Amino acid sequence: MRVWAVANQKGGVGKTTTAVALAGLLADQGKRVLVVDLDPHGSMTSYFGHDPDRLTSSVFNLFQHKGQVPAGLAAALLLETSHEQISLLPSSTSLATLERQSAAQGGFGLVISRALEQLESRFDFAIIDSPPLLGVSMINALAACEQLVVPVQTEFLALKGLERMVHTLTMVNRSRKRALPFTIVPTLFDRRTQASLSTLRKLRNDYSEQLWQAYIPIDTKLRDASLAGVVPSRLEANSRGVLAYRALLRYLLVQSLSRGREVA
Ligand code: ADP
Ligand code: MG
Repeated sequence: MRVWAVANQKGGVGKTTTAVALAGLLADQGKRVLVVDLDPHGSMTSYFGHDPDRLTSSVFNLFQHKGQVPAGLAAALLLETSHEQISLLPSSTSLATLERQSAAQGGFGLVISRALEQLESRFDFAIIDSPPLLGVSMINALAACEQLVVPVQTEFLALKGLERMVHTLTMVNRSRKRALPFTIVPTLFDRRTQASLSTLRKLRNDYSEQLWQAYIPIDTKLRDASLAGVVPSRLEANSRGVLAYRALLRYLLVQSLSRGREVA
């Protein structure tokens, strides 16, 4: 199972949309995909038709066993989604209390890694969506994944958020054996605005190595898909946004494969 996470310490930049779009495209190819919602807001959980305010069990349950994950627990938490190839580990609002509880206790950084180990044989891919703040959930996402996708909205204030995220990654990488590879993905691009054009130029200048060279355009079909609760490729397989995500997926798969070879 390959594990990818989507993260940025800023909200509203297209994290959840990116996670769902990539999961949908992998699932369309027949892959068995697990989506993991680590954001207490539960946008991805809502996206797939489950109410994070009303769920009585969620990923939060994984964190209630002193950092260990009892056998079978991860599988017991799985929910079905509107796509037959995609299963969901849902979030719930109780997840918000996690940051407070476990900050004092420590030892909670590998809970999601341990849960995913239990699900290894059931899925080809796991895609983790994370909250826009650095805390226990994001640390878990970063520890569990082999590659990170960082969506960055192409507007003026976005670059500060990206700087913060890159700083976090530098710190996290000091405690890992291998540096976590990440790909910056320009999102919500509008070619008619100066803000989009100049942000893209700056990204190409400052982050050429980590940057995916294309971008995800503004596409209302992506929002429509979230309202309809289906993955974007099922709503409109060839909308501009879906075509862009398809190109992004190809790029990420190549990256992931070439690194697999380096290790082997
Ligand atoms: P985040 O998870 O980073 O908070 P979301 O993925 O929830 O961001 O996106 C924020 C809002 O923008 C949502 O309403 C989503 O439907 C919309 N959105 C995201 N990407 C696009 C896009 N490329 N074009 C149009 N709307 C988008
Ligand atoms: Mg989100």
